[in-house]
Amino acid sequence: MPDLPLPPGSTLGILGGGQLGRMLSQAASRLGFDVVILDPQPDSPAARVSRAQITAPYDDPDALQALGRLCDVVTFEFENVPAASVETLAEAGALVAPGPTALAVAQDRVDEKTYLNAVGAPTVAFAAVTTLDDLTAAIERLGLPALLKTRREGYDGKGQVWIRNAADAEAAFDAIGRRPAVLEAAAVFQRELSVIAARGRDGAVAVYPLGENVHKNGVLKTTTAPAAVDPATQARAEQIAAAVLDGLDYIGVMGIELFDMGNSELLVNEVAPRVHNTGHWTQDGCICDQFEQHVRAVVGWPLGPTQAHARVEMTNLLGAEIEDWRALAAQPDARLHLYGKHDARPGRKMAHMNRILSLG
Ligand code: AMP
Repeated sequence: MPDLPLPPGSTLGILGGGQLGRMLSQAASRLGFDVVILDPQPDSPAARVSRAQITAPYDDPDALQALGRLCDVVTFEFENVPAASVETLAEAGALVAPGPTALAVAQDRVDEKTYLNAVGAPTVAFAAVTTLDDLTAAIERLGLPALLKTRREGYDGKGQVWIRNAADAEAAFDAIGRRPAVLEAAAVFQRELSVIAARGRDGAVAVYPLGENVHKNGVLKTTTAPAAVDPATQARAEQIAAAVLDGLDYIGVMGIELFDMGNSELLVNEVAPRVHNTGHWTQDGCICDQFEQHVRAVVGWPLGPTQAHARVEMTNLLGAEIEDWRALAAQPDARLHLYGKHDARPGRKMAHMNRILSLG
C-alpha cells in the first residue's frame, strides 16, 4: 500500500466515467495527479479529460487488477460498486476510498436506515418487506400513504411507488417486481435540503452550507445554496453529517439528502458515498469545491475550506435543454459546466449551470 499523503504525480483511479468522474478527474489533474478511468463504455466523458481509460465491466477481475496496479488510490462515482471489485482492487495494491462498509450501507435502503438511526441520524419510520404479508403488516404499522421502494438499486425516483389505499398494496408490490423492499412512512416535509460533507484520513470532518433542492419528475432540477436556513438547522445538519461519517470511518465526500420537517428537525432521506449532484454549486460558491475536496480526502491531503463566498443557484440541463448553449453561455452571471456527452437523449444529464445570486 502506498504511503500517505500521496504526492502530486501519483495516480488516481475512478470507477465510472460519467460527469461525476469527469469533474473529479478535472479536480485531480489541477492538483497534479494522473487519472485512470474504468468504464464499460469506450470514450466516456471522464476518459476524455483523463490520462487513460480501461474499457471493461466493473466486475471484470483482469481490468480491476490492471487498474489496481496502475493506481495508488481508487475511488468511484457511483455507489453500486460490487464488494468483490473493491477486494480485487485492494489485493492489487491500491487504496480504495470510501471503504466497503460505506458502500454496503448505501447499497441497501434497510441497512442504510438502520445504520442512520443507530448513529442518531433520524429517518422516517420504515419496515423491511420481503413478502406481501410483510407489506400488509407494514401498512398496518406505518399507516398510509406510504412509499414502497426497492431495497437496492433505486435512484432518481426509480423503483418506488406510493401506496394510498390498502387495496393497492399488491399492485404496488408487483410494480416494483416483488423485489425485496422497504416501506417508508410519508414524510410531511416543508422542503428538501442536502448537505455535502467530507472526512479526511486524519478524521477531520468538513461540512458545506446546506443546499435547498427542487426535483422535477423525480430528478433534481435546482439546488440553491447556501439555503436560507436558521443557524440551528445548519448546526443540526453538521451534527448529523459528523455522526454519519465518523460512524463509518468514512474517507471522502458524501451527499446526505434531508427532509426539513420545520423547527430545525431534519430527517435523513438517503446518503450517497460520493460527490453529489446537489453539491455542484460548490464549484462556483466555494474556494474548494466538492470534487477537489473528495480528491484531497482520498489522497490524504488536508481538507479544504467549505465556507461559501457566493450564493449560487445550480440548474441541471437535461436532454435537449443543452441545445440552448449559445444563449446560456451569453448570460453574464452564470457559469456553464458541460459534460461532453455526445447524445442528448431525453432526460439525460448533459450539463449544469451555476448562477451567482449574490456575492459574500
Ligand atoms: P429517493 O429516491 O429516495 O431519493 O426519493 C426521491 C424523492 O421522493 C425524494 O427526493 C422525495 O421528494 C420523495 N420521497 C422519498 N422518500 C419519501 C418519503 N418517505 N416521504 C415523502 N417523500 C419521499
